[in-house]
Amino acid sequence: MEIAGALERIEAIVGPRGMLRDDAAEPLLQDERGLYAGAAAAVVQPVSTAECAAIVEICNEARLGIVPQGGNTGYCGGATPFDGERQILLSLARMNRVRAIDPVGYTMTVEAGVILADAQAAAEAEGLLFPLSMGSEGSCQIGGNLSTNAGGLNVLRYGTARELVLGLEVVLPSGEVLSELKGLRKDNTGYAVESLFLGAEGTLGVITAAVLKLLPLPRSRQTVWLAVPSVGAALDVLGIARRQSGDQVVAAEYVSRASLDLVLAHVTDVRDPLDNPYEHYLLLELAGSLSDSALREILEGLMEIGLTNSMISDGVLAETNAQRDALWRLRETIPEAERREGRSVKHDISVPIAAIPGFLADATGRLSSVAEHRLSVFGHIGDGNLHYNLMPPIGCDAFGDGRAGALTQTLYDRVNAIGGSFSAEHGIGVFRRDELRHYKSDTAFDLMRLIKNTLDPNGIMNPGKLFADEDMRP
Ligand SMILES: Cc1cc2nc3c(=O)[nH]c(=O)nc-3n(C[C@H](O)[C@H](O)[C@H](O)COP(=O)(O)OP(=O)(O)OC[C@H]3O[C@@H](n4cnc5c(N)ncnc54)[C@H](O)[C@@H]3O)c2cc1C
Repeated sequence: MEIAGALERIEAIVGPRGMLRDDAAEPLLQDERGLYAGAAAAVVQPVSTAECAAIVEICNEARLGIVPQGGNTGYCGGATPFDGERQILLSLARMNRVRAIDPVGYTMTVEAGVILADAQAAAEAEGLLFPLSMGSEGSCQIGGNLSTNAGGLNVLRYGTARELVLGLEVVLPSGEVLSELKGLRKDNTGYAVESLFLGAEGTLGVITAAVLKLLPLPRSRQTVWLAVPSVGAALDVLGIARRQSGDQVVAAEYVSRASLDLVLAHVTDVRDPLDNPYEHYLLLELAGSLSDSALREILEGLMEIGLTNSMISDGVLAETNAQRDALWRLRETIPEAERREGRSVKHDISVPIAAIPGFLADATGRLSSVAEHRLSVFGHIGDGNLHYNLMPPIGCDAFGDGRAGALTQTLYDRVNAIGGSFSAEHGIGVFRRDELRHYKSDTAFDLMRLIKNTLDPNGIMNPGKLFADEDMRP
């Protein structure tokens, strides 16, 4: 089938409202970080699974690539199309209905284009919690969250997106619809085929709906900002908090002084919550079924033990929601502050949790011998996941002379050597494709390729993402 004919048939399915053009299409072709300027033969927004399936079937016949897109907040260029003639961008934004909430089974069935914050709000309106949470929650969509297996702020307690799914509806590359939306907690009937699509970054099919796990809404929430003498102390304090609270810690975020300084320099309406500067901070949040006063007692007890044993240098408990929001703002605006500071080389790594202090000490020395740099380190320390970002020295716009790549490789080699991952939660897209080839074992990479070729023999789903073209040649 000719491309032009395929595009006409697609337009006939979605109607003029479902084809975005010019100014409406333009922002969707640019990725979140401004690294890639994309191009597509069409930008299409179906409103139903049936429309989506019909579009995919046409694309498969015409060998037209499909790049699924959710909120376009991904960090790896995964949702950007790169061929103005042979790829379409398939935006799920209009498939944004909450289909059902089951308060007895603690589940919610939503379409892929539901914005994460809207899913959280819909659950909360029923007195329930959908615990996935991250800085981009006002824009990112459930389909994007599941396709990237997003992590975020509450993984420590509730797991990544993958662990919050009880069923999926997916349009396969053939246009067939895989509908596994029973939402059962137990279903041992052979391979869990739906799980293949979680973290697949749109390379195996289009997620159109999901059954998500819900929990009772916590009755109480308490937040504390702690200064700690070392990263090791931060882990010790976290361990005590988990044990003393019966594992009610929902978030444990590490913030280095350098990262906080960037926020204080570039973000308005923020202030250092403590009187003196410290090198390391831990933002802890507890939530659960205990009363507010009982949770608070646990945190006060933690501070007392920590201050007595020199595991905590100083700290402040949020007294009000406004204070809680202010503490979280210090953590959540770090990426924005880094952007305003200038260029940086970003890394989203994970290492075994107990290895974090030794890894950080070791990495600093190794990287200093590669190039002079400034560090901004922060992240989900309770998950072993750190955002380890490098900025050029003050007065320099960028690392010169291939130094950025050398720094990244040195860091990733070290991460790999201690059993860590070069991509903890942001995924691969096009940005980390070479690293995937390099660090994934041959056995795992070959299996991934086999699955891709089996499900998508014509290579229409998100071409060029995860795999380079040359990786797919026999
Ligand atoms: C301020 C900020 C904070 C962030 N914080 C975090 C964080 O804490 N943790 C974290 O994990 N990430 C974080 N991110 C990254 C990003 O928000 C997540 O990766 C998010 O899950 C992407 O969702 P999205 O809807 O924007 O997906 P998109 O960016 O649109 O797409 C991401 C990938 O999923 C594919 N895809 C999208 N929808 C579908 C679908 N329906 N079917 C099949 N494939 C699909 C795309 O093709 C692409 O490969 C952050 C981003 C920003 C800007």
